[in-house]
Amino acid sequence: MATTTGPTVADLLARNKATLSSFQPRPLFSEMPAMDLPLPSTIIVGCCDARAHPEEFFCLRPNEVIVLRTAAGRVSPVLKDLAALEAFIGYGKVKQLLIVHHTDCGGSHMKAADIKAHIISRRPAMKPEIEAWDTPSFGGKSPTESVKHDVAIVQQDELLSETLRKGTKGFVFDIKTGVVHEV
Ligand SMILES: [Zn+2]
Repeated sequence: MATTTGPTVADLLARNKATLSSFQPRPLFSEMPAMDLPLPSTIIVGCCDARAHPEEFFCLRPNEVIVLRTAAGRVSPVLKDLAALEAFIGYGKVKQLLIVHHTDCGGSHMKAADIKAHIISRRPAMKPEIEAWDTPSFGGKSPTESVKHDVAIVQQDELLSETLRKGTKGFVFDIKTGVVHEV
């Protein structure tokens, strides 16, 4: 396995402190109607990979877009969250859902059977439950194929509004060129 590293908690808190001189306070939900500020109508589901931040490659500003990040950007783990967000924002008010997978994703390097075997080795008694899990693995698919698979999952989810299902599109972010293209 790869070696791991990263900033310490103290490092992160120091970085936060450095942002405060330019931080702009955000409006409360209760303040937004009087300020004529709408809620976001776009949600992005992307991979948690530290090389693939949607905030960076889409130049996102505060209160513009909701970003959900999962292992490999798989949409299945957040279907309930999407339904809950529609309940909060308003059924049919979320117009666009972008599912973004990326090149060289861990999901294309991991096999579902290996992930499950690894976890089962630590909790053998849970084998039947773990065997039934969805995993982030692309299952031998390319990012283009995996993202199409996830778009189809959303489009078939009857708990989500027709507006959201019809507004769902798939994309692949190329980590070498920075280009995001629609699939
Ligand atoms: Zn990834």
